[in-house]
Amino acid sequence: MCCAKPLNEQVAIVTGGGRGIGRGICLKLAELGATVIVNYSRSQSAADEVIQQITTAGGKAMAIGFDVASPDQVDEGFKKVMDEFKRIDILVNNAGIAIDSLAMRMKTEDWQKQIEVNLSGPFYCSRAAIKTMIKARYGRIVNISSVIGEMGNAGQSAYASSKAGLIGMTKSLAKELASRGVTVNAVTPGFIATEMTATMTEDNKNKLLEQIPLARLGEVSDLVEAVAFFTLPGAGYMTGQILGVNGGLHM
Ligand code: NAD
Repeated sequence: MCCAKPLNEQVAIVTGGGRGIGRGICLKLAELGATVIVNYSRSQSAADEVIQQITTAGGKAMAIGFDVASPDQVDEGFKKVMDEFKRIDILVNNAGIAIDSLAMRMKTEDWQKQIEVNLSGPFYCSRAAIKTMIKARYGRIVNISSVIGEMGNAGQSAYASSKAGLIGMTKSLAKELASRGVTVNAVTPGFIATEMTATMTEDNKNKLLEQIPLARLGEVSDLVEAVAFFTLPGAGYMTGQILGVNGGLHM
């Protein structure tokens, strides 16, 4: 027998899957056999490109638009997935934003936006997914937190708070759902070359590189294997874990 893939027959939702890390995760999960639901908030065309790439390679995928910070949109989006596929096995809470500002100058709305998207969003999505997962007595939730949630960073108090909060949520949901066969883990990326980090000045980048033992920014391909690992049926004895993929920046 040839070619049975580990995620065959499984349905995976990846929030913010149209670009950057989310896009890489979508492609990886599809390669492992999952049907991938690519969530986007604004750019359907980016999500459609990911779908195109997956289907061209022989995989299955569908795009779905919702804002993770809107509980109503999230519930509606997950209902659509259930109507279409009747199952949700994997949720990757990847969508996130960073609005850097020193605390003294941080606008209230920018603080709130980061907490809403980066922390409330994963909660709304997890809440919507676990109903189905609990019934199936199987599920894999992977939260994309950040090394900044572990270390803190000047100018990123809101972002760091949201990502540290996500670590607390990961551990709480892991305890809440373990007896139902649902695992909840987090990956904490270091600095990964995507549009989110593209705006860093050369000077800041050089200072950062001095602190990274592996002396380079990470690539999306450095990260997706770690995320995929937690989604596999064989990772069922790991829950509430926080896996750093940061080039050694934080140990
Ligand atoms: P990115 O900006 O390239 O991608 C973020 C994605 O999230 C985009 O597709 C965007 O449309 C989507 N998104 C934003 N707000 C949304 C919302 N309200 N609803 C639905 N989707 C929304 O960033 P990235 O670098 O690919 O980051 C992905 C995740 O990884 C984020 O959670 C980020 O905080 C985290 N992260 C990134 C780095 C890094 O160095 N790039 C490091 C640590 C953690």
